[in-house]
Amino acid sequence: MNKISIIVPCYNEEEVLEVFYNKITEVSSKIDADFEYIFVDDGSKDKTLEILKKYNKKDERVRYLSFSRNFGKESAMYAGLKESTGDFVAIMDADLQDPPDLLPEMYETLLSKEYDCVATKRKTRKGEPIIRSFFSKLFYKIINKMTVTEIVDGARDYRLMTRKMVNSIIEVSEYNRFSKGIFSWVGFKTKWLSYDNIERAAGKTKWNFWKLFKYSVEGITAFSTAPLLISAFVRTTFLYSSICIYTYYNW
Ligand code: UDP
Ligand code: MG
Repeated sequence: MNKISIIVPCYNEEEVLEVFYNKITEVSSKIDADFEYIFVDDGSKDKTLEILKKYNKKDERVRYLSFSRNFGKESAMYAGLKESTGDFVAIMDADLQDPPDLLPEMYETLLSKEYDCVATKRKTRKGEPIIRSFFSKLFYKIINKMTVTEIVDGARDYRLMTRKMVNSIIEVSEYNRFSKGIFSWVGFKTKWLSYDNIERAAGKTKWNFWKLFKYSVEGITAFSTAPLLISAFVRTTFLYSSICIYTYYNW
């Protein structure tokens, strides 16, 4: 029997974990496969870890990792991928914005062996703060102009992948990870599913403007040589202008 690993990065998710756990176990019961749920506590300050320990005691499918501090969702996903032992691996947010109900369809698709990955994206950004939508769209425009790796606008991290693809992703040992780029960069045949934006089941978003800005800079510097080229161009221009000015005044 195949095993599916579900990786769930969690940062201060005490309000939503019970709803999530009930939902994922309900969906799992409809799929003919074994499961492991890998919850990654990303340095939560609330009762997240306590709740995870409770589930781990009562359900042998539940495993958890706990970070010493908040390292960010990217690190949590990477740690989860490295720990996973399934033949298929999914990454899913804890707040139910990544609908677990899509999982049976995703799994069926991969069983047909035509694809290595079923990824998801949102149809629209409806429900998201206008300012966040504006900067997100701007970011995707800029990054796609600067890189050859396609970064899909609206793509979520929610996806189900084969072990083969997961192993390739783990081999990319970037320190500042930008998974949306890495998923695309490793190649593999991907099928995209779209769905309407879903509000968080409970709790609040963990992102703020500054975190998103840093994340976008990481994406651009990791996948594009344009910032290096621009800086080389500026440096060379300054160097030659200085030589010209110096020669002109000291001739
Ligand atoms: N998350 C995390 N570490 C962080 C921020 C977020 O592990 O530093 C997790 C969070 O618990 C959730 C997922 O990443 O499961 C997505 O976070 P969130 O819902 O806050 O982001 P949004 O949906 O607003 O983009
Ligand atoms: Mg969310």
